[in-house]
Amino acid sequence: MCLFQNGNGFSIGAIEKNCKTKINCIVMFCFQCQETAKNTGCVSVGVCGKSEDLSSLFDDLIFDIIELAAANNYLRQKNAGDLAASRLITDGLFSTITNANFDQDAVCEKLYAVRKKLSELSEMANKADSDDCPSFNCSANVTRERVCILWEKDEDIRSLKQLIIYGVKGAAAYCEHARALGFEQESIYAQIEDALCKTREEVSVEELLGTVLQVGQTGVKAMALLDKANTSSFGYPEMTFVELSAGERPGILISGHDLSDLKELLEQSEGKGIDIYTHSEMLPAHYYPYFKKFSHFKGNYGNAWWKQQEEFAKFNGPILFTSNCIVPPKAESSYRKRIFTTGSCGLEGATHITKDPVSGKKDFSQIIAAAQKCNPPEQLEKGKLVGGFAHHQMSILTDRIVNAVKKGVIKRFVVMAGCDGRHTSRQYYSDFAQEIDKSCLILTAGCAKYRYNKLALTPNGEFPRVLDAGQCNDCYSLIVIADELRKALGLKTINDLPITFNIAWYEQKAVVVLLALLSLGVKNIHLGPTLPAFLSKNVLSVLKDKFNIGTITTAKQDAINFVR
Ligand code: SF4
Ligand code: SF4
Repeated sequence: MCLFQNGNGFSIGAIEKNCKTKINCIVMFCFQCQETAKNTGCVSVGVCGKSEDLSSLFDDLIFDIIELAAANNYLRQKNAGDLAASRLITDGLFSTITNANFDQDAVCEKLYAVRKKLSELSEMANKADSDDCPSFNCSANVTRERVCILWEKDEDIRSLKQLIIYGVKGAAAYCEHARALGFEQESIYAQIEDALCKTREEVSVEELLGTVLQVGQTGVKAMALLDKANTSSFGYPEMTFVELSAGERPGILISGHDLSDLKELLEQSEGKGIDIYTHSEMLPAHYYPYFKKFSHFKGNYGNAWWKQQEEFAKFNGPILFTSNCIVPPKAESSYRKRIFTTGSCGLEGATHITKDPVSGKKDFSQIIAAAQKCNPPEQLEKGKLVGGFAHHQMSILTDRIVNAVKKGVIKRFVVMAGCDGRHTSRQYYSDFAQEIDKSCLILTAGCAKYRYNKLALTPNGEFPRVLDAGQCNDCYSLIVIADELRKALGLKTINDLPITFNIAWYEQKAVVVLLALLSLGVKNIHLGPTLPAFLSKNVLSVLKDKFNIGTITTAKQDAINFVR
């Protein structure tokens, strides 16, 4: 094993670069998100702002994470699995998610930690080897050249292996948020590591397809665990009106998905003369009873992640990223110095707040002090948003909803969950929401909602037209809600409900949500605005045959085709 170190810290190893040159592989290739260049792949630099060096580091990190997963899997079979290794794996996977970490030094440190652990486990695995059980190193034809995505020449195998890796990245991110609240399930780690092992083996398309669906099941478990972590810590989300206007005091804007960071920030900033605002995916925090007790928890500021450059400049105060989605600020940006990160995310030049290893707490005093010196936010908009329709709130409404369905007041549920993004083609989702009849209730989760949650949609009697369950992981709630409705309406499967899935995807959390739905047998999902570049023609055609996955056309046409 090679650990690369120079006088200034850890850097990309020359051997990996040589490997790539040797196999005639371009140094950077990434096609994991919806905004990949030309819907084919980012080379030389990412549309997201990821540099070639960072991309190369991520490739290395993923390679070593897979090796660590293999070693840990091997030891687990001998009842010697290593929990710390699993945590390094989930944190590392999370860091490689689109828009999560842009800090090369931080990624180098993670790579070093993974390699150190791999060295330790390799030694343990070798000691544990016996005649009847071959060494884990021999169990697959592993060469370091595999670090490059394009090393795998068979397009379908490559497609399925990447689909597995992207799915486990999403599941790992959810595990990390749950772990921050003290909730962990080793069986989920074992499934993640098992799936990763498949990507280093020579296995058939059929076997990989099976693993893809297993990753979906793992995704359901990870989302359920996070739901349990969030609801047992902060109560059940309830219908809530969230303030959109800015107050007169300086504030901190908290972005990302991690509710445990929000809790600590609110507790530490109470009585300090500042307000706390949510941004993008943190909006659903307002739905939880626990957070309502903080009078300085002011409201939501701004829109989905991709508008942050414009909106952060107007916020005037510090911004705390607890996870993806970060857009690297321009060199001349006024807010660059006001950015703080924590958890698995990172940004070069930003202050990263870590956990105290003894107390397990994070010290947010630096960001609070910075906020106290800032001007209050500029006013972006006025009004309120309604949300909080996660599974518990919806179960209270089930009888009323079922009656409305029986009377024909509600004719269809349209699941428009997922992600928002920069492509102008995403205007489709605003148009689609406006095109569909008021008898269709929109169920949503994730930042896709910003495309239509502020539109004046015609209300459906007693129900808001957009029922927001929460963050992308709260797609779990949408699954529970759909199943509750199925039972209440006496139907056999979710597919028998008057329901349409029109999902917008962007990054790997959305990939695991999609796989979760497929693993539960949900059919006829429409995926847009474009289909993933990492799905080969054959893999796509299998998904079409098996699950009738489709894409989108125009809002007008789809409003007719999808909801009739
Ligand atoms: S994460 Fe997306 S935008 Fe960034 S390099 Fe990869 S494919 Fe390109
Ligand atoms: S839903 Fe997806 S794109 Fe949107 S903020 Fe969450 S992770 Fe990012």
